[in-house]
Amino acid sequence: MGNDPSGTLDQEDPRGPDVDVSTSLQEYPGYTERMDPRPDHGEDSYSGTGRLTGRKAFITGGDSGIGRAVALAFAREGADVAIGYLPEEEEDGASCLELIRAEGRIALAVPGDLRDQSYAEAAVRRVLDHLGGLDILVNNAGFHIAQPNGLPDIDADQLRRTFETNVYGTIWLTQAALPHLSDGASIINTTSVQGYHPSTSLMDYAATKAALNNLTFSLAGILGERGIRVNAVAPGPIWTPLQPATTSSEKLESFGEGTPLGRMGQPAELAGAYVFLASNDARYVSGEILGVTGGKPLA
Ligand code: NAD
Ligand code: MG
Repeated sequence: MGNDPSGTLDQEDPRGPDVDVSTSLQEYPGYTERMDPRPDHGEDSYSGTGRLTGRKAFITGGDSGIGRAVALAFAREGADVAIGYLPEEEEDGASCLELIRAEGRIALAVPGDLRDQSYAEAAVRRVLDHLGGLDILVNNAGFHIAQPNGLPDIDADQLRRTFETNVYGTIWLTQAALPHLSDGASIINTTSVQGYHPSTSLMDYAATKAALNNLTFSLAGILGERGIRVNAVAPGPIWTPLQPATTSSEKLESFGEGTPLGRMGQPAELAGAYVFLASNDARYVSGEILGVTGGKPLA
């Protein structure tokens, strides 16, 4: 791609190697170093241009996958970055903090479980104390379990965990952050193409992502008068630990092949969307859902 004037991704071959990822299965929550091939977070390709200089961001699920790519890009754009993740993900959390610190930015770990309502207040307080403010909230953490037969196999624990992580967690954290956000702040929710085109095997998850799309519209409407913008990014099939930790090897074999571009995406390919929505370039953009789907329309 060479020097891309719009930002930032400088990759030799964005299609990546043609590999069989179905052999990469692992236990939930999944770990980056156990993935083969290793996901690309933009380590060797993303270069910043100061678009978030001095900003302070909190990214949930920032240890790995899309969140890690966003954390790295935000740091390279000049932001200090706090990341949330589950306590058992310390290994991935530490690797991501190293990436942020390597850019000379403040990096903060805020481990905890978003399903616990008390985490939200405590996490925001920690971010404010260590970063000195909060301008960008990325509600990116998410959970799903694929059930090949869909509805009959969704049990109460799965349903509760999916909704509590994706919807309740986002609402609680946004509530806790709001009093501290001011004019120019940006909230970005990670939704999914599943919110528009639900797979049978992910119907409960897809419903949470549709709820987050809707919540994005509500919040954009309510918060506009305070100068706070609320948007979402809707990824398609992306190679992150969530996939080999929750999806069957049969599904992984053809992961992403049904998209118009015919392949899965890498986390690095999402970063530019989040940077845009967080930055001043998007100062008149709110209530928008930006698809990074490999070509599948959000309609
Ligand atoms: P990932 O596993 O790397 O990241 C998800 C993160 O969510 C985990 O690292 C974990 O830290 C966090 N998390 C999960 N449950 C949590 C809880 N209860 N409390 C706190 N943190 C919790 O996978 P990813 O694919 O990068 O996922 C990021 C977001 O992207 C998710 O919202 C996911 O639904 C969404 N998404 C992913 C894909 C894909 O194909 N990978 C597609 C569409 C949307
Ligand atoms: Mg993780």
